[in-house]
Amino acid sequence: MSDAAFRVCIIHLHRGKSEIVTFGDKNKHIGGSGLAAALFEQFGLPGEPWSHPDQPLIFAIGCLTGYFPLMSKTVAGFKSPYHDQYAESHAGGRLALAMRFAGYDAIVLRGRARLPVAVHIGSRIIETKDANYLWGANVFTAGRVIRRAFPSGSGHRSILRIGPAGETLSAYACINVDTFRHFGRLGSGSVMGVKNVKAIVVSGDGDMELPGTDSKVYGKLFKKVYKDMTATEMMSKYHDLGTPVNIAPLNALKSLPIRNLQQTSDPDAEGLSGEKFGADLLIRNAACSGCPVGCIHVGMLREQFQDEHRFQIRQVSYDFETIFSLGSMVGLMDASSALALMDEVEKQGLDAMSTGVALAWATEAFQKGLLSMEQVEYDLAFGNLQAYKEAVWCLGHAKNEFYRDLAQGSMHAAGKYGGEDFACVLGQEMAGYATGETFFASQSLSFRHSHLDTGAYGYDQKHHDKNPDKAVAFMVEDERERVLLTSLVACLFARGVYKKELLAECLACVGLPDLAANMDQASEDMQRLRWRTRLATGFEPEKSRVPKRFLEVETWAGNMEPAYLDAVRQGYIKVIRELGAPAETRQE
Ligand code: SF4
Repeated sequence: MSDAAFRVCIIHLHRGKSEIVTFGDKNKHIGGSGLAAALFEQFGLPGEPWSHPDQPLIFAIGCLTGYFPLMSKTVAGFKSPYHDQYAESHAGGRLALAMRFAGYDAIVLRGRARLPVAVHIGSRIIETKDANYLWGANVFTAGRVIRRAFPSGSGHRSILRIGPAGETLSAYACINVDTFRHFGRLGSGSVMGVKNVKAIVVSGDGDMELPGTDSKVYGKLFKKVYKDMTATEMMSKYHDLGTPVNIAPLNALKSLPIRNLQQTSDPDAEGLSGEKFGADLLIRNAACSGCPVGCIHVGMLREQFQDEHRFQIRQVSYDFETIFSLGSMVGLMDASSALALMDEVEKQGLDAMSTGVALAWATEAFQKGLLSMEQVEYDLAFGNLQAYKEAVWCLGHAKNEFYRDLAQGSMHAAGKYGGEDFACVLGQEMAGYATGETFFASQSLSFRHSHLDTGAYGYDQKHHDKNPDKAVAFMVEDERERVLLTSLVACLFARGVYKKELLAECLACVGLPDLAANMDQASEDMQRLRWRTRLATGFEPEKSRVPKRFLEVETWAGNMEPAYLDAVRQGYIKVIRELGAPAETRQE
C-alpha cells in the first residue's frame, strides 16, 4: 500500500461481508471533507434517491488525526433525506481517534441489512450483530445496551446510535456520537435507519506508529502545537462559559432569533445567558478525544417523577446552538426549561436546531389558525415546555400526519399547511444568527447550509459597507480555507491556531511534504469537487429562497436591505455554478 493512499473499510450490509481497500491519494483528497466527496463520487448514485439501498454512508477522518490535538472531527458524507442531495455532517467525540487506532481513514456502509443490526468495526474484527430487539429504543437506552453488548477492550471505543427519529426516517434525524456529540444536520440518522443499522461501534484496538524517522522532531512540534492550543485565549473562550457566552452579546445586538424570529432581542434572554447556565446548571466539561480544550458543557437536569416525591438527575450537554433553538426560538427563556427540552430532543435522536426551528414555525402557524388542535395535539404556545416535550416525542415517532410532515422540515410542512413566509428556513432550518444579509445569503446557499460553512455572521458584524462583491469574495475564500481544515478534520475552534504555516509543518512531519507544499491547490480542488458532487445530485441554487420573515428582521444596524441581500445571493450563485462546473467546461 502506498503511504499516500487511504485505507478504507467497506461494509456490505446486505451480504454481511466487508473488505478493506486502498483508495485515492492524501496529496490530492487530503481526507475528511475531500475524502468523503471522493468516496461518494466513486460509490454514490447521484440520480437515485437518498433511500436507495446502494447509497453509501461514509465516515472519513484526516491524515493528521491522532498525531496532533484537535484533529478530532469525523466527516459523514451521504445523500440527505432533507433535500435528496449530497450532504456532509461533522461530529467530534471519540470516533476519529477510534477510527485511527482501528486503522481506517474511512468507513463506508453500503447496502441494507435484512434486519436491524449493530455494526462492530475494529482492527481485527468486523462483524454485525442482531439489534432487532433495540428497534424503537431511544438514544439513551440504545447507548446503555450497546455499551454492555460491546464491552470496552483496550484502546478507544466510540459508539454511534440512532433514536426513533432515525427509524421513522425524519429528514433531520441525527446520529448520536458518544452521548454528547452528533452528526446533527441534514438527516444522517435516517440514512443509518434506512440501512437498518441501529448502532455502530468502532473499537480503536490497534496501534499506530509515531510519524517520521526522528521522533524528536515530532515530539517538539507536538509540544509547540499543544502549547499554542492551551496558551491562547481560545482555551478560556471555549472552555469557561463556552459558546453560550454569545447569547448576551447577540441579544444586545438585536441578532438573537426569538419566538420564531418575531424578535431579535428580549430582556428575558438573560435567563438563557452563558453566565446563567454556568452559574446554575454547569456540572462539568467534557472533551473530544485528543483535545485539551474541553468545550463540551454538561448541565444538570433535575426532574421530578410524575406524581412522586422522587427526582432523577440527568446530564445534558448544551451550547449556543441548542440554547437558541430550544430556548429563545421557542420562547423558553429560562435555562432549566431549555435544558429539559434538549434532553427530550436528544432522546428521540433529532437534530436540535431543526427541531427547535420547526416547533417555532408550528407554534406560530397554530397561533394563526393554520393548524388545528387535532393536528398538533398539544397546546403549542411559546414557552409551553410540557407541550413541546410531547410534540418532540410525536416528531420522533411520526405520530400523525402532521408530525410526519413536520419531521420532513418546516418548509415541507409550510408548503402543505401554509405559513411559508414565516418558516425560518435557509436551505435548512436557520442557525442562531440573525446578524444580517450576508449571513442569510450564506446559509441559504452554502454547501452544508450551515453557519460553519463561512464566517458570514462575523462579516455582518464587522462590515457595514454593503458591498456585494466584497461579501461574495469573502465567503468564497473563507469557505476554501475551511475546506482545508475540514478535510484535515480540524475542529474549527482551532482555526486561529492551525494557520497554513503550522499545518504545513504538521503535514511535512507526518510524511506528506507534497501536500504541505500544495495545500492551496488541494483545498481549491476539494472545494470544487464538493460543489460538483452537490450539483450533480440535484442542487439548483437559483431555486433557493429567503422567506419573508428574514426581510422583516431589524438588527442593531437597522432594517434589512433586500437589494443587497439579492445581490450577494446572485453573486454567490454565480460562483457556485463556476466552482461546480465539470473540469472540461470550466472557464479559468
Ligand atoms: S474544542 Fe470542543 S469540539 Fe473542538 S475538539 Fe475540543 S472538545 Fe471537541
